[in-house]
Amino acid sequence: MSRWMMEDGRRMKDNVRCKKEELNITIDMDKYELMALPYAPDALEPVISKETIGFHHGKHLQAYVDNLNKLLPDSEYENMALEEIVRKAPAGAVFNNAGQILNHEMYFTQFKPAGEAAQTPEGALAAQIEELWGSFEAFMAEFEAKGVGLFGSGWVWLSADKDGNLVITQEQGASNPVVKGLKPLLTFDVWEHAYYLDYQNRRTSHLSALWQIIDWRVIEKRYKY
Ligand code: MN
Repeated sequence: MSRWMMEDGRRMKDNVRCKKEELNITIDMDKYELMALPYAPDALEPVISKETIGFHHGKHLQAYVDNLNKLLPDSEYENMALEEIVRKAPAGAVFNNAGQILNHEMYFTQFKPAGEAAQTPEGALAAQIEELWGSFEAFMAEFEAKGVGLFGSGWVWLSADKDGNLVITQEQGASNPVVKGLKPLLTFDVWEHAYYLDYQNRRTSHLSALWQIIDWRVIEKRYKY
């Protein structure tokens, strides 16, 4: 099987099988491909090392992409968008791999190098956070605590409901707030593969360092309806 990359990205792709009759070969085009990182692998150091990025993006996320591409052909999910798969698939391999791709794409694209990241929210999002938590610091404290307190592997999320109200949720395993009808905005990955090389068992230290590389301009864009 040949793997063809397309310039306009995987979301534009159909799961097309281009049969070249004259050559008697079939080219299966993968529906999903590994996202490109919007920064160099060492750009987030020292908060996240180049080695962690290498394994997390290049090995773990790549494996979820490869797994999903094996599971989709001839399934009812074959032509669904990633979010729709996550909303509709029951617990199992399709849900786990699609969920982990969606989670990691949102995770990796929310970061910027510490010197460039807009480290505090502005506008409507900042106002909502202040109204609900009293201060940005109180919000950060609750978000971190929910990440530290999540048992096992999973994700802590800031999301908005259909009216724009903010909520922090803990999601086990590969789950994503879209399953609950929420719009996901910001996430910390608390799977050990996200931090073990750099922080070993110190999940608390890792989570408190992550604020330095969160770019709130990205989160504000996700919050807009
Ligand atoms: Mn991860």
